[in-house]
Amino acid sequence: MPPAIIDAHAHLDMPPFNRDRNEAIARAREAGVTAIINVGINLKSSEDAIVLAQTNRDVFAAVGFHPHEATSVNQRDIKKLADLARQARVVAIGEIGLDYYRNQSPHEAQHRALRWQLEVAADSGLPVVIHCRQSENDMVATLKKWASFTKPPDDGIRGVIHCFSGSLETARQYIDMGFYISLGAYIGYPTSTSSHRIINDIPMNRILIETDSPFLPPQSRRGQRNEPSYLPVTAATLASIKRAHLELVAQETTANARRVFRLP
Ligand SMILES: [Zn+2]
Repeated sequence: MPPAIIDAHAHLDMPPFNRDRNEAIARAREAGVTAIINVGINLKSSEDAIVLAQTNRDVFAAVGFHPHEATSVNQRDIKKLADLARQARVVAIGEIGLDYYRNQSPHEAQHRALRWQLEVAADSGLPVVIHCRQSENDMVATLKKWASFTKPPDDGIRGVIHCFSGSLETARQYIDMGFYISLGAYIGYPTSTSSHRIINDIPMNRILIETDSPFLPPQSRRGQRNEPSYLPVTAATLASIKRAHLELVAQETTANARRVFRLP
């Protein structure tokens, strides 16, 4: 039996899985993936995520508007999002954030959508799943401000920084605010070797692993669709970076994911 692990971030609702969604979930289970957090990027995909979560015992949903979608997000959408957040099997608000790399929405619109959704998260008591690309300074500042204005949850857990690739200093600031750091298969890309020292210094009790399926496949499958059953590759990469036993990495990241998303 492969060790139990949790995929903290996947998009199984997306079209690349239309052909074999159920098979992909079954393959994940066989690979030891005991839970998958399926993350929404807009209203439709958030609704689809909820359906997936309510019909598959291993899937849980996050609901939110991706920064790429920020321009079109209005107050009515946010009201609908708040309704979705109350549905069964919804464990987080996300993915939300800032993306200055693709810049598919103006920064002002991205900040507005992020602010509104952080309010939804605070009201609902759910953790957030943060997307941050080339926008670290603004993200840290925004989250600090948010954290200072909102009552922290009893367990102090604010959410997850998805697809983290920042500096150690940034990671520490996130962790101090109550965030967990989620890492994907990109940590095994040849171009990521320089980040291994940073990853090694991030405490194991704050790390999650994710696939971001269908994106960012492991190095051996570059150019192909990623899927949750490939998550063991990332667990193994993390174990080698940390010079730790795979079983320990599996145990710790699983316990962390259960804690952040308050899984049953
Ligand atoms: Zn994502």
